[in-house]
Amino acid sequence: MARIGLVAHDDKKQQMAEWASVNRAALARHVLYGTGTTGGRVRQETGLEVTLLKSGPLGGDQQLGAMIAEGLLDALIFFIDPLTALPHDVDVKALTRLATLYNTLFACNPATADAVLKAL
Ligand code: PGA
Repeated sequence: MARIGLVAHDDKKQQMAEWASVNRAALARHVLYGTGTTGGRVRQETGLEVTLLKSGPLGGDQQLGAMIAEGLLDALIFFIDPLTALPHDVDVKALTRLATLYNTLFACNPATADAVLKAL
């Protein structure tokens, strides 16, 4: 059982909902945390229990970063939108920086997320 954080930028939320549906059985074996909107979407789509943090731009990304720093998160599935400027870009950078710094399993697209889920 691993503790997994789920985040998807607006243009990637549909992709996250689909990925979570396809991988519902595997995800059900883990403990899930999500930024507000992403987590709600995954809950709705899959019926899985997801602990909801604040919305990303309102501090949710930072909450996940703090969990990583405190050793409370094993993997981060973060579907980043590379084509849109985001007002909370600094938070995105901080979260990806901490995931890198703490050697956290970190997927930023579905192909890598599949591999991470298999590894877990
Ligand atoms: P959200 O946050 O799931 O609350 O939309 C994601 C993000 O960081 O943009």
